Amino acid sequence: MPEELNPFKIAQAQLDEAAELLGLDEATHEILRWPRREFRFTIPVRMDNGKVKIFHGYRVQYNDARGPGKGGLRWHPDETIDTVRALAAWMTWKTAVVDIPLGGSKGGVTCNPEEMSDGEKERLARGWMRQIYFRLGQYKDVPAPDVFTTSQIMSWMLDEYEVLSNDHQPAVITGKPVELGGSLGRSDATARGGMYTVREACKKLGIDPAQAKYAVQGFGNVGSFAATLHKELFGGGKLIAASDVYGGVYNPDGIDPHALAKHVKETGKVPGFPGTEPISNEDLLELDVDILYPAAIENVITEKNADNIKCKILCELANGPTTPAADKILYKKGVHIIPDFLANAGGVTVSYFEQVQGIYQYWWPIEKVHEELDAKMTRAYQAVYDVHKEKNVDMRVAAYLIAVQRVVDAMKLRGWV
Ligand code: NAD
Repeated sequence: MPEELNPFKIAQAQLDEAAELLGLDEATHEILRWPRREFRFTIPVRMDNGKVKIFHGYRVQYNDARGPGKGGLRWHPDETIDTVRALAAWMTWKTAVVDIPLGGSKGGVTCNPEEMSDGEKERLARGWMRQIYFRLGQYKDVPAPDVFTTSQIMSWMLDEYEVLSNDHQPAVITGKPVELGGSLGRSDATARGGMYTVREACKKLGIDPAQAKYAVQGFGNVGSFAATLHKELFGGGKLIAASDVYGGVYNPDGIDPHALAKHVKETGKVPGFPGTEPISNEDLLELDVDILYPAAIENVITEKNADNIKCKILCELANGPTTPAADKILYKKGVHIIPDFLANAGGVTVSYFEQVQGIYQYWWPIEKVHEELDAKMTRAYQAVYDVHKEKNVDMRVAAYLIAVQRVVDAMKLRGWV
């Protein structure tokens, strides 16, 4: 049997394992296996060549028992309803595991933004909002940026929402530029939150992060901040490889992450960075590093390569980088996984701070954002680690046990099950 790589099937399989360990009854288990609501729609966009192109858009509202939905928008050629469903499920567990009063949603458009002009992107952003604005709101469901969507795209969407609702609603969408009500500290929040969990994991495993070798797959928004913040927050560490969709670069003596970020800004890609040799995305994952940061796409660690993974800590900044079959292999090998919906929860946590600030119309200084984020991430990591030890389950299962139980408690109190 080929390994199942449909992300929604994977998300359901992960839930099934937690449901069994928690002894959930059939109805409670079933409601958690499916989105509460999902919307699929077409978006006609007049392209620069004068012709109308039809795009397929999605918004999946997976579970809102704990609060309004929350989740990013991905614009990707491979986006399908099942990728969006899986990501919406993971958002539900993510908001629950860091204990913020929100549910889980996700949205997307099947498209290739690299082939689109700014004008085409703006028309697509506004068209997406026109199709779904009636079901969004600061107390209903709050979108945010994700793969290939930007603060500019959020600004166009905010503007379209406010035109349609004839109101100012800064908390309806997060990841906005600071000038439009964005929070300070949002741009590096996902990577920074991951670093706080890595700091805690290093304490548990007796690793000095300042001496650690690390590699980053996916030197985009999250990955590039991970590469630079590792050095800044830990006062050291050696980045030995980094990659993007075009390929990777490797130098066993270390790569300056700030210089690499500058190179990527100038050339648009990681390959070709001076003083390095090329490395494939596959080989990068198998390097002998202390900490591996997958920060690109899902399903990069499978049963095919799991045996060759050598890192001590796998900090899953990407969503769904490890398949369930690979998970089992890594657990047996003793790799300490900081599971995606914990490791990358810093983004949604600061998004939540942005929502809170938007509702109050009062914005926090950066120090407060960092302090509150650190407290949330550290508490969440510690809770997951304690369950991992107490119940002798891997870190992902431990995180699921905590998150699913919190959602179940809210559903029971509401009388849904
Ligand atoms: P991004 O678009 O800024 O960066 C993605 C990076 O991955 C780019 O460097 C791209 O070239 C690379 N990439 C794409 N396809 C690849 C492939 N097949 N092989 C290798 N590299 C590839 O996106 P991002 O916002 O940095 O998100 C990265 C991951 O983190 C995604 O899985 C996303 O769902 C997850 N995530 C992001 C946030 C956030 O705040 N942006 C929050 C939580 C989780």
